[in-house]
Amino acid sequence: MDYCSKLRDISLRIENAKQNSRFKEDIKLVAVSKTVTSTEVAELYKAGCTAFGENRVQALKDKCEELYILPIEWHFIGRLQTNKINQLIALHPILIHSCDSLKLALEIDKRLKAVNQTLDALLQINSAKEPTKAGVKPENAMEVYKEIIHTCQHLKLKGVMSIGAHTNNISAIHKSFETTREIYELALPFGAKYCSMGMSADFELAIKCGANIIRLGSILFK
Ligand SMILES: *Cc1c(COP(=O)(O)O)cnc(C)c1O
Repeated sequence: MDYCSKLRDISLRIENAKQNSRFKEDIKLVAVSKTVTSTEVAELYKAGCTAFGENRVQALKDKCEELYILPIEWHFIGRLQTNKINQLIALHPILIHSCDSLKLALEIDKRLKAVNQTLDALLQINSAKEPTKAGVKPENAMEVYKEIIHTCQHLKLKGVMSIGAHTNNISAIHKSFETTREIYELALPFGAKYCSMGMSADFELAIKCGANIIRLGSILFK
């Protein structure tokens, strides 16, 4: 299938999922391009997708450089090592989805201050409390959220992100999305705008649970 048909097909599924949701959020699609090259990114961009996500700083840098001519909105969605923070800041991503601790937030904020720059980010929630996953525990999420809001002047928290529970058990995935949405709602009075959840296998469920950003990779590029 060509990218135009794929995007059309996915837009219909998104619209359908919205109709089945009580939230009626506008859904932003971020195409996760970590498994493809700049050529595919440029093709999907031409088909109408303007937001892309990468999970490694070096890959993001390479693609930003190769595709500088296109006004692509770049998102960072991966684990961020401290020694890569400056490199990431210099790439001016529109949003970091994966700020996964107070410590990381403080570190990014410090580096942003040094270059007098601001950057929007989401707090990653480990909503199913999986030991292999990054993110703050749901029960600590609001405390950490408020601490970051009050301490960081340059890193601007704009909501939450999570990866659905890694299981075939739909109700466990559902529960993990609901947990994230609940935290998002608690963060609304603190300026939250984005609830980033849902990937190729579970984006319709995520929309039903109140996501307003979905991150799709394999369904677009397979
Ligand atoms: C790879 C990745 C995605 C996309 O996953 P697919 O299942 O390929 O849609 C979304 N979010 C994050 C954080 C990822 O690393």
